[in-house]
Amino acid sequence: MPVIRYWAEYAWLGTEAGASKGVLIETEGDRFATVTGGLGTPPTDAVRLPGLSLPGLANAHSHAFHRALRGRTHAGKGTFWTWREAMYSLAARLTPGSYRDLAAATFAEMALAGITCVGEFHYLHHGPDGQPYDDPNEMSAALVDAAASAGIRITLLDTCYLASGVDGAPLTGVQRRFGDADASAWAARVGKFRPDVAHASVGATVHSVRAVPAAQIPDVVAWATQREAQLHLHLSEQRSENVACLAHHHRSPTELLADAGALGPRTTAVHATHLSDSDRALLGDSDTGVCFCPTTERDLADGIGPARALVDGGSPLSLGSDGHAVIDLLEEARAVELDERLRDEHRGHFAASELLQAATAAGHAALGWPDAGVIAPGARADLVTVRLDTVRTAGFDPGEVAAAVVFAAVAADVSHVVVDGRPVVRDGHHLLVDDVPRALSVSIAAAWA
Ligand SMILES: [Zn+2]
Repeated sequence: MPVIRYWAEYAWLGTEAGASKGVLIETEGDRFATVTGGLGTPPTDAVRLPGLSLPGLANAHSHAFHRALRGRTHAGKGTFWTWREAMYSLAARLTPGSYRDLAAATFAEMALAGITCVGEFHYLHHGPDGQPYDDPNEMSAALVDAAASAGIRITLLDTCYLASGVDGAPLTGVQRRFGDADASAWAARVGKFRPDVAHASVGATVHSVRAVPAAQIPDVVAWATQREAQLHLHLSEQRSENVACLAHHHRSPTELLADAGALGPRTTAVHATHLSDSDRALLGDSDTGVCFCPTTERDLADGIGPARALVDGGSPLSLGSDGHAVIDLLEEARAVELDERLRDEHRGHFAASELLQAATAAGHAALGWPDAGVIAPGARADLVTVRLDTVRTAGFDPGEVAAAVVFAAVAADVSHVVVDGRPVVRDGHHLLVDDVPRALSVSIAAAWA
């Protein structure tokens, strides 16, 4: 297996202490072989990585096609629900071909931002009117193929989506593209999707308590449990979901999911915005993870979730760019801390190392890749280098490199990205997709056509 040697000016090795200086990192095939600190001078045969090198960033919550809504849906009045109408009109148009191209460009943007693995929360399964394609998993295959062309890993989180409300009302309009007849039909379809490629794995999602009737949630849980697959779900993103769930089921969404057996260490609750103290305890006591998507939550006027309280209660925190208002995991990471500051008018809720942990190891664990997200021998060789000489990062304190990157750097400062030992981005250029902005504009125009 080919051995590549890198010399990182600084590297964050997952410790609270911050960044180490002068780190020699050897990869062998898709793994890190050795990691040695304290090398002030780079060996002549090592690829130099000026800046701070991080483990791969994990985007734990994505709906790839929402990228086509950026720059079109942010102005004006309304709520999540008015935004959803625009999203549905896009969802109605996509074909396997146009979705593949859009997702490939979106995943390439992610690679440029240092994202080495995406959790794709996938519900756009079927053709118009809900007719399955000849291959009923054709859309899933398009997404896995798109990730390959962008050079990143994917956890395809296939979504069970059966109803249009907590009362079990049937799907209407474009929602019929998302649906299966029931949870066992969903399980039968997903069970046939077994991509035989190293960069992909398959997990399950219960879209939300709005979209899966309570009696059918255990079937989805059983499918995931049998396969030891990850289970994700949208949880209490909007107060109206809580109100409807309480009115119909006399329980909060978290209580309903707990009763259905859906909580546990392989489960990730996305958003977890509007929770009671007892909801938080149910999540923490069951080791259920939470995924915050602050740039989407602020774009959609969702509210601010209780991140610190959830983490203190035992829920691992991961991060996602969700609706892709921006694709920048560093922005998601600092927003968790900065939102807490806005809420309680104090600073210092999360250490920079905790925010980096959420963006790296915790995100990969939430996506079922526990051997990724850390620069250490034996781990998957993902490396993300952030420049320290840009207009945003220049002038940093060498004693606080990790915090400088978390609070000042943006996706555009990412210069080098290695995924599973393979260089994917060099000097800010994607090595597999020649012109990512053009791929985005062409595929977005085609998606809306
Ligand atoms: Zn979502």
